[in-house]
Amino acid sequence: MTRLIVATKNKGKVKEIKELLSGLDYQILSLEEAGVAIDVEENGQTFEENALIKARAIHQLMGGMVIADDSGIEIDFLNGAPGIYSARFLGDVSDIDRYEGVLALLEGIPEEYRTARFRCVVSLVSDEEALTFQGTMEGRIAHEPRGDNGFGYDPVFYVPELGMTVAEMDSDTKNRISHRGRAFRLLADKLRKRSGL
Ligand code: IMP
Repeated sequence: MTRLIVATKNKGKVKEIKELLSGLDYQILSLEEAGVAIDVEENGQTFEENALIKARAIHQLMGGMVIADDSGIEIDFLNGAPGIYSARFLGDVSDIDRYEGVLALLEGIPEEYRTARFRCVVSLVSDEEALTFQGTMEGRIAHEPRGDNGFGYDPVFYVPELGMTVAEMDSDTKNRISHRGRAFRLLADKLRKRSGL
């Protein structure tokens, strides 16, 4: 079985990625499982650059096939911020403080100007190639948080088609429509074709 290293230290992400890529003929390994203990600095200017920087750094060290992802939220009223800085937006504060900060920045702003999207780019780096796959999920910043599922900005990201925030969705529903689900399904299609499955 071909080894596929996931270049992230986030255990939740590795679990989610193993689920999304299950059924493929690849042995999916976290950095820990592959015995890698380095921190890669994400100093790119786009999601794509950051995803490639992470996968290339691990590929240089280990060879084989490596995947990495980078994701975040783009709020149109804030000219696309926080974007690649989503995890650190407003400083070293909790997820709750971060989304409360977003609600405060958009206070009084009417519905039609509250549009936003989550974006995820997954990279696949091997000796032969460096590819990226992208997924987005469109929605609006809610007026108040709702729901307890998920993480990050989920409680304030409202999806009009489903009439709920992402934090009100079960994980199957979120995977079906989410930026990460979409990007990883594109990667899975590529891997499936390659191994002739
Ligand atoms: P990453 O680990 O560098 O990809 O960080 C992405 C950051 O963007 C996270 O820390 C969250 O703040 C935000 N983010 C990305 N995807 C999601 C999501 O599915 N729900 C909520 N927040 C997300």
